[in-house]
Amino acid sequence: MNTNLQTPIDYLKGIGPNRADLLRKELGIYTYQDLINLFPNRYIDRTHYYTINQLQRNSADVQVIGVITSLQTIGEGRSKRLVATFKDDTGILDLVWFRGHKWIRESLKLNKPYVIFGKTNWFNGKFNMPHPDMELLEDHKKNLQSVMQPVYPSTEKLSNKGITNRVMIKIMQQLFLETNGKFIETLSDNLKNELKLINKSDALFNVHFPKTQELLAKAQYRLKFEELFYIQLQLVIKNLIHKSKIKGYPFNNVGTYFNTFYKSHLPFELTNAQKRVLKEIRADLGSNAQMNRLLQGDVGSGKTIVAFMSILMALDNGFQACLMAPTEILSVQHYNGLLEWSNKLNISISILTGSTKTSERRIIHESLENGELHILIGTHALLENKVKFKNLGLAIIDEQHRFGVAQRSKLWHKNESPPHVLVMTATPIPRTLAMSVYGDLDISIIDELPPGRKSIKTVHRYDKNRLNVFKFIRDEIKKGRQIYIVYPLIQESAAMDYKDLMDGYESISRDFPMPDYQISIVHGKMKPADKDFEMQRFIKGETQIMVATTVIEVGVNVPNASVMIIESAERFGLSQLHQLRGRVGRGAEQSYCILMTSQKLSSDSKTRLETMVKTNDGFEIAEVDLKLRGPGDIMGTQQSGVLNLKIADIIKDKDILQLARFHAKQVLNKDPNLSKDENQVLLYTYKQLSKYKNIWNYIS
Ligand code: ADP
Ligand code: MG
Repeated sequence: MNTNLQTPIDYLKGIGPNRADLLRKELGIYTYQDLINLFPNRYIDRTHYYTINQLQRNSADVQVIGVITSLQTIGEGRSKRLVATFKDDTGILDLVWFRGHKWIRESLKLNKPYVIFGKTNWFNGKFNMPHPDMELLEDHKKNLQSVMQPVYPSTEKLSNKGITNRVMIKIMQQLFLETNGKFIETLSDNLKNELKLINKSDALFNVHFPKTQELLAKAQYRLKFEELFYIQLQLVIKNLIHKSKIKGYPFNNVGTYFNTFYKSHLPFELTNAQKRVLKEIRADLGSNAQMNRLLQGDVGSGKTIVAFMSILMALDNGFQACLMAPTEILSVQHYNGLLEWSNKLNISISILTGSTKTSERRIIHESLENGELHILIGTHALLENKVKFKNLGLAIIDEQHRFGVAQRSKLWHKNESPPHVLVMTATPIPRTLAMSVYGDLDISIIDELPPGRKSIKTVHRYDKNRLNVFKFIRDEIKKGRQIYIVYPLIQESAAMDYKDLMDGYESISRDFPMPDYQISIVHGKMKPADKDFEMQRFIKGETQIMVATTVIEVGVNVPNASVMIIESAERFGLSQLHQLRGRVGRGAEQSYCILMTSQKLSSDSKTRLETMVKTNDGFEIAEVDLKLRGPGDIMGTQQSGVLNLKIADIIKDKDILQLARFHAKQVLNKDPNLSKDENQVLLYTYKQLSKYKNIWNYIS
């Protein structure tokens, strides 16, 4: 009775080899299953008919009944077009085709009533409708089954080749005919009852041919839940398998290092959030499953000390630890910070980067292998094959989004048994997104800034107000503060960026002349040693102004710097702006962020700037960013596959997502292997999904 939904689309009546090819290439539809899962983008009300005198300029989706009274070809070459004069009792409208003249001309019937449907333009004192969707009135009356007509995703190529929306609807109707509209149920009775979800077959029917608005809503809800549920089920299962299969080193002791540091050397009282996160990490490290945890905390929230204290837990149990950061500058800074603390505890610590000398490297390699070296900090250089640990117990990765998944897992294989892994990121990933992409990681969040921080005041200024901004800088420097001025990134190809930076540097040097003012400059084209030299001058307070590109974006910590000026701020993305702003506001003083832009701004740029001015909350900013850019962009193409959702939208449907995650966990809690009778339907669907989709591959 059930048609096999894996049947190639070519077999559906009405789809020849050409159409099948187009559907495959344009929409990725290979099988009946793919087709049934092609959900409408939206629905249009086809109960309403306009008369021509009711049309508005630029109205979308209008439906008019009338007749074609004449047809003619107008223009030459590229502007050649077929124009039909279409009339009803109230006026005249031109129908226009720029392509496909021949078959349209042959198929159109003069003086017979048609229902046309499409978007109208106002041109030359007349309405026209380009490439209308049309149907003879008598057919229209026969076919009209639902008041809400689905509009399917389409491409230009599809409509050019005659696969219009109307054709898509016909194809879908045919599919329902051949399958009798009966589809295998994919959710358990338990779930359906508890959540009052409608049946699969009813849901599919009503999403394609809604009988009522209410049924449509129910159908969408059920299908969205299902889609998100199976993603969550997969993620939770992965996490469980990970925990049961991958043994970690159990760190049983909280020992001398940790306790001594905690009692005698803690530089400040930990925030409650830091304490909570340390407890979460402690619990992971104490169990004998490998930790795989993501630590999210806004810039300045104090992740470094959490990292250090986690490292102490490893050391207390006789293990080594490493901390990997994406840039040289950041590695050096981590090294300097951790060195101070380590010295107090007699812990040995080294740094390894691209610019470490061969002789030093040799020493590091040796002392790592014989276990004398406790902590290694560094860049990607840590991933080199020569770097071998005696017993690496904990690997920490800072600013996780800079490292690919492959690199992350490379660290794992430095040992017999994988070390515990803690990835830290200051780019707040909206909770919903984290849940759908990192659902297999455990997540800790530091959602509290250290006490006494004044929130950063952010303003937007136009270039023409530069003089006022410069005066402000002078006043701040007089108070003993330091200033960052940041330019868009210098890329090899972007000679323009470099010129902007250098021009800016020159003009700032003129306005802030030596010896009263000292200026540092740091950019991507400099040698690491020179960069470091300039950074150090600024850190030591020898220079008051740091002119830089985004190389300073990540992690740099100079508490005395209180003003961040971002040039051409319209060219930066939201998360970058937020990261940059996070360089200030690290001391006790009131800090400022000034976003400089030209007068001309796109609406997205405006939204970004307004958001920055309005809020300091990284999670709120991340949500706006997600809305502006879409999830694929934020996570990078690598992970976008996961989010290639067919019906749900992780932004709009986050409540359903949460519900789906809750139920996925609950089902697996009660029945980890899905072996109970009532869950057979889940197990079956889960297996089918793994077989026919490779969404796994996208998740690390
Ligand atoms: P991030 O999370 O951005 O890596 P850091 O670890 O660099 O933040 O911490 C930012 C600043 O806040 C540092 O100067 C650090 O010493 C300080 N800090 C961290 N935690 C606390 C705390 N609990 N109380 C006071 N200052 C803190
Ligand atoms: Mg940091």
